[in-house]
Amino acid sequence: MAKITLDNLAHSYMANPKADDDFALKELNHDWADGEAYALLGSSGCGKSTLLNIISGLLIPSQGRVLFDGRDVTHAPTADRNIAQVFQFPVVYDTMTVRENLAFPLKNRGMDAAEIARRVQRVGKMIDMEAQLNHKARGLTADAKQKISLGRGMVREDVNALLFDEPLTVIDPHMKWELRTQLKKLHHDFGHTMIYVTHDQTEALTFADKVVVMYDGRVVQIGTPQELFERPAHTFVGYFIGSPGMNLFDAEVDGRTARIAGTPVDLGDAYAGTGTMQIGVRPEFIRLSTTDEGIPARLRRVEDVGRHKILRLEVNGHEINAISGEGDVIPEGANRITFAPEGVNVYANDWRISPQGKAA
Ligand code: ADP
Ligand code: MG
Repeated sequence: MAKITLDNLAHSYMANPKADDDFALKELNHDWADGEAYALLGSSGCGKSTLLNIISGLLIPSQGRVLFDGRDVTHAPTADRNIAQVFQFPVVYDTMTVRENLAFPLKNRGMDAAEIARRVQRVGKMIDMEAQLNHKARGLTADAKQKISLGRGMVREDVNALLFDEPLTVIDPHMKWELRTQLKKLHHDFGHTMIYVTHDQTEALTFADKVVVMYDGRVVQIGTPQELFERPAHTFVGYFIGSPGMNLFDAEVDGRTARIAGTPVDLGDAYAGTGTMQIGVRPEFIRLSTTDEGIPARLRRVEDVGRHKILRLEVNGHEINAISGEGDVIPEGANRITFAPEGVNVYANDWRISPQGKAA
């Protein structure tokens, strides 16, 4: 196991990158703590695989260094990094049995037969393929082959890190949950440093202690699921995480007052600087009001989604979402909204700013 340090790292697939936009991965400095389980979350094309492949050594970065426990491995081949990587699509040996496929990474390292047998049995059980250990991989479904790939990543106990690049994409939905649970158990039992790439927020939030959110080649926030929910550092995090995502209101901010659609709103805390900013409020923190306090709003539609209701509102020509509890009564004639103060975040140029006198 190892701490992984990214030092001044950036990558461009172009020979002569000039502008910021030429970089698939923008400059990044970060430590991945030894033994922690991370999810790397972001939409397709934001640079997740690029970052993972630099950590594993499949890609040499155009700038910066990668350190494992302080040792510079930037130019070291994958084989020298002692990591296991599992990809989106299966990588298996068709002519070998499931057992031989799982044993391969261990045999390769000259481990004794009894120990190999023990580990293969353990992993075979974790991926729910104990009954098929003697089957040839050829002829198995894509789903089963991907489980073998996962198993091969899980069979070594001494790795510096385990890297997963959207490993459950081709897995049957009902099996996804089970395999994710097994990966969590593996992390619990062996304490490997794990990085799990996904574009699915549910997968990220249920798997990881810490979620690393990427957007357009940048890491925009690293935090616990709760931090990402309560204090999104970037408007993208607010929008990407949560269902529906965070609402954004254009506002003129002056001290502790924001003017939204002409209505003054008390922010609870004072903010430095004046001018046009954005107020981010998650649907969970928007309240309907029947008094003449609040921002004028029109309730357009109520959607019952089981555990709660989603209220679709129109505020100053924009669609805004609110969430109300299952048992909550929607007040008759409500035509304004207010914010629960603990759910208010202020953004300047998409980055969250802290209230004056308060740390992040
Ligand atoms: P993700 O894994 O988040 O979907 P990638 O890391 O695969 O994103 O890609 C990031 C960006 O780099 C994308 O714009 C993609 O088109 C580009 N890219 C990825 N691989 C290559 C490559 N081999 N050559 C050129 N551009 C690439
Ligand atoms: Mg990818």
